[in-house]
Amino acid sequence: MSEDNCLFCKIASGEIPSKKVHEDEEFVAFYDIRPAAPVHLLVIPRQHIATLSEVTKKDAPLLGRMLILVANLAEQLGVAYTGGETGFRTVINTGPGGGQEVYHLHAHILAGPRPWSRMG
Ligand code: ADP
Repeated sequence: MSEDNCLFCKIASGEIPSKKVHEDEEFVAFYDIRPAAPVHLLVIPRQHIATLSEVTKKDAPLLGRMLILVANLAEQLGVAYTGGETGFRTVINTGPGGGQEVYHLHAHILAGPRPWSRMG
């Protein structure tokens, strides 16, 4: 389940501290340490999945619940799309070609007034 020397496995287990906004038996959400936008969260499964490129059909329920959690957290943080200019961005970087730096699947939630420092 958890992988040695994986930063996000250690954050999920609490071995490395983070500013968590949500945790349940399957997922953890916490603030990005180097925010690229006024609101910048990361949502991770507790299960160690290195990249989006390795998921298969068996991961469909987990990935579905992960995306619903993203939407719920956006609502909780007051950045959901409710009309007008509101809304947020969800990013999953995959592999070096996608700019992935931490090899444990994670969805970025980015929101707030622009300009953003990166991922803009
Ligand atoms: P990128 O750096 O291109 O966004 P990733 O998509 O792999 O690459 O994102 C990893 C994210 O993890 C980065 O936004 C980085 O700031 C964040 N990060 C790294 N270490 C920590 C940590 N200890 N706590 C919270 N966020 C972290």
